Amino acid sequence: MKKVQNILNENNIKPTFERLSILQYLESGTNHPTAGMIYEAMRKKIPTISKTTVYNTLKILKSHDIIHSISVPDGETHYDVNTQVHYHFYCTECHKIYNLELDCPQLENKLIEGHKINNFHGYFTGICKKCLKKNNN
Ligand SMILES: [Zn+2]
Ligand SMILES: [Zn+2]
Repeated sequence: MKKVQNILNENNIKPTFERLSILQYLESGTNHPTAGMIYEAMRKKIPTISKTTVYNTLKILKSHDIIHSISVPDGETHYDVNTQVHYHFYCTECHKIYNLELDCPQLENKLIEGHKINNFHGYFTGICKKCLKKNNN
C-alpha cells in the first residue's frame, strides 16, 4: 500500500481508500483488466464501491499518466499500470493480453525519422502459447 500511496501523493491525488485499492489491484497483476473486471474485484473487498467510483478513479489515474488504456479487438478498454515501455500481444483465441518484453533500439532512441516518440500504442495479435499447446493436443 505504501508504494501506491506515494504514487498518489506525488501526483497530488487525494489517496482515498478506493483509489488506493484500485491502483494496488492494477499494480499487483499483469492481467490488463477492464473497468468491469476491476469493479468485480473491488466489490469483494469494498462492497459499497460503485461503478462510478471505479470509472472516475480510472479517469483520474489515466489523466496523470499513472495508468494507460489498451484497446484490443474485443472492443473493451483494458487498463495497465504505466511502468516501462512494453508491448502487448493479443491472443485471438482466448482474448488474453500478454506483456511482451522486446528490444526496440529505435524506440529507446526516442527519435524515428526525426520524430520524437513519447509513447507506443499498438499490439501484436496471434495465438498464444497456451492456445497453441491446446490446439496440438
Ligand atoms: Zn490464447
Ligand atoms: Zn501491459
